[in-house]
Amino acid sequence: MLEESQISQKFLLFEERFGRGEVIDAYYAPGRVNLIGDHTDYNGGMVLPLAIEKGTYLLIRRTELPPCRLYSANLDLEARILTSELEPKGDWADYLRGVYKYSSENCGTLPPFDAYYFGDLPLESGLSSSASIEVVTARAMNSLGCAMSPADEVKVAWRAENEFVGIPCGIMDQYAVAFAEKGHCLLLNCENMEHRQVPFNIRDCVLVVGNTGMPRNLAETEYRKRRLECGEALEALSARLGPRTCLSNVSVKEFESARWGLPDLLARRAEHVIYENVRVEEAARCLQAGDARTLGHLMNRSHESLRDLYEVSTHELDALQRISLEQQGVLGSRMTGAGFGGCVVSLVAREGLERYLRRTPGLYWQATHEEAEFTVTTPGDGARRLREAT
Ligand code: ADP
Ligand code: MG
Repeated sequence: MLEESQISQKFLLFEERFGRGEVIDAYYAPGRVNLIGDHTDYNGGMVLPLAIEKGTYLLIRRTELPPCRLYSANLDLEARILTSELEPKGDWADYLRGVYKYSSENCGTLPPFDAYYFGDLPLESGLSSSASIEVVTARAMNSLGCAMSPADEVKVAWRAENEFVGIPCGIMDQYAVAFAEKGHCLLLNCENMEHRQVPFNIRDCVLVVGNTGMPRNLAETEYRKRRLECGEALEALSARLGPRTCLSNVSVKEFESARWGLPDLLARRAEHVIYENVRVEEAARCLQAGDARTLGHLMNRSHESLRDLYEVSTHELDALQRISLEQQGVLGSRMTGAGFGGCVVSLVAREGLERYLRRTPGLYWQATHEEAEFTVTTPGDGARRLREAT
């Protein structure tokens, strides 16, 4: 989170850029990291994300006349939204054009506005700055007279990314950002969207998210492939066990009784999904019970499964995970996200943190000749309105 004084200063910059006028409102939405449960979301399974303590801030003021004027201090770029012509333009503001378009489908015609975005969340680092900027904008539609439920905000944000910008993604990111609560992880069932706040009762540990710094070149094609493979595995298992709506509805016992009939590749993909799903629920129990040791163990198993069975890890992710685990005070470590680049999340005892941050970057560099960036966090606030100023 930014300091109060850093936020106040932005109100002045807003007025310098857009002029003086009516009330300016302030909103915040965090980035997120998934503690455990990857590639379970599109298989109707469980995920366990949390809000990190960094996010996107938005100062917004409704105006009389179009166009909407937008500015991102992160990019130092301006953009406009022509309310009469809500089409993608191929720039950063498409996420927001999408949110504005789908919000007005919920609330009717919306007035134009000026918006100033800033924050401390790194972009394109696997911490979901895209969901963060979508959800902060959806929440800020309140200031234009469009008060949506958090579930509607999630839908609007998800549609903006998938349908408007055209990036296929699951629903987890937007959910995590909109529903997160400080001090909790969000246990989310991606089949029916039921969710529960799980207290992070591991007070003597923090999470460290290390970005491998690798571009996610293969991510999109391989993601599509995995989805198809899961579909095929589901069909094959349904033929043996009776119809199932998703892989997560196949129990471990059922899977083990039927796996012999599957081609090896499909069996390995399904094994990851079905066992990962079980690990997520176990991890939630560990969090609640304050059992850091078992949680760490589950995170390690999850990484191995993503590496060996689902085959979405990379040399760099494996290196950072392994180096992390070798450090004193690290209880568990795993890649997080879709894979092929992105981040590793580690559970680190507070007393080992300073040493971890001192040693890991150099060891990672030696192993890969890449630079990793680290974010230390505990579960932070979800999307919210901050305050008003005139
Ligand atoms: P991630 O979600 O992992 O950060 P994405 O590539 O999905 O990475 O989304 C990043 C994109 O979202 C940026 O390239 C930019 O277009 C947009 N974006 C996110 N946050 C901001 C911001 N504060 N200002 C401008 N654009 C942003
Ligand atoms: Mg994103």
